[in-house]
Amino acid sequence: KRVGFAIVGLGRLSINQILPAFAKSESCKPVALVSGDRAKALKLAAQYGIADSNITDYAGFEKLKEMPGVDVIFIVLPNGMHREFVVRSAKMGKHILCEKPMANSVAECEEMIAACKAANVKLMIAYRQQYEPINRTLEKAVREGKIGTLRSIVASNSQDQGDPTQWRLNKKLAGGGAMPDVGIYCLNAARFLSGMEPVEVFATIVQPKDDPRFREVEARCEVIARFPNDVTATFTTAYDTHRSTFLRLEGSDGFAEMDPAFGYHGAKLRFVKLMDGKDTEMAPSIEEEDQFALEMDHMASCVTNNQQPHTAGEEGLQDQRIIEAIYRSAATGRSVKVVPPAGSTRGP
Ligand code: NAD
Repeated sequence: KRVGFAIVGLGRLSINQILPAFAKSESCKPVALVSGDRAKALKLAAQYGIADSNITDYAGFEKLKEMPGVDVIFIVLPNGMHREFVVRSAKMGKHILCEKPMANSVAECEEMIAACKAANVKLMIAYRQQYEPINRTLEKAVREGKIGTLRSIVASNSQDQGDPTQWRLNKKLAGGGAMPDVGIYCLNAARFLSGMEPVEVFATIVQPKDDPRFREVEARCEVIARFPNDVTATFTTAYDTHRSTFLRLEGSDGFAEMDPAFGYHGAKLRFVKLMDGKDTEMAPSIEEEDQFALEMDHMASCVTNNQQPHTAGEEGLQDQRIIEAIYRSAATGRSVKVVPPAGSTRGP
């Protein structure tokens, strides 16, 4: 039996990535839709074989409780709405997959985790990169010392946000600008690939006064994060540059690079390593798989086998703690210490 997903919010991500990914998933199927636009929902329901009776709007959200086949609720709404809809889902006793960033604040993340614990439901944050084979190969290679001892991480995830009226530029709905939306990929990759939690951050933000898009949120954010063992991560993220996305891990004996790094498709990985006195380049051939199908299959397997998701709510909460430290650093001009979570399984 396939695990049934209700998709909440039919924006670009749901329509262009998530719904099409069910065809590639091994164990999931879309069974319900939640949208403020009934005509759009009816059209998509017909396309994906979802019963019209399994469509509802936000006011009727609680109807999901009685709809047949809904095992998991996938929240794909603007960031500032994640808390409300995760808590409402938990109260219905449904398992939840929630898009990144988890929410707009540490307090919201803690409330979401508590609501899911109280209702005894699973909460997973959709960090698709952590389920994707090229990233997993890189994580394993670093862990096995393929580039020697990890010294530093350099990354960028930047793009141009055109429409000045979109929710991504509204602080209440987005939580911030480039940092929580696209910069979070650099941050989460640094934690995932180093296997460690940062202990201190220093950051600066740019919010151009003459650009109407950035009245409420930052256009750019530059971060230096210190990790244990003298490892550092430096990254840049922007909403006012041409698309640029790369990642480089520098080690004592070589480096690994992904360029492009954080997109839906086409990530490229190469290693450069000293061999017989000269730099040798290796590009492992790894078959690309649909990241959204992989993350949904992971959620389904956690539900079926009663296991804790690999990227549970605590993973989203820790990114949010670091993002708050980043904003504090930018506001004060000083570095800010970050306390790694108690019982963290990440090194050193
Ligand atoms: P979008 O703007 O394309 O879609 C948002 C949807 O929410 C729309 O259908 C809109 O109608 C609906 N909505 C409901 N109430 C709204 C309100 N008050 N204001 C604005 N929209 C409202 O956004 P998206 O790109 O689909 O992003 C949705 C979520 O997915 C965000 O949390 C985002 O960070 C995340 N996301 C993740 C990835 C990824 O790769 N994992 C990629 C893109 C977006």
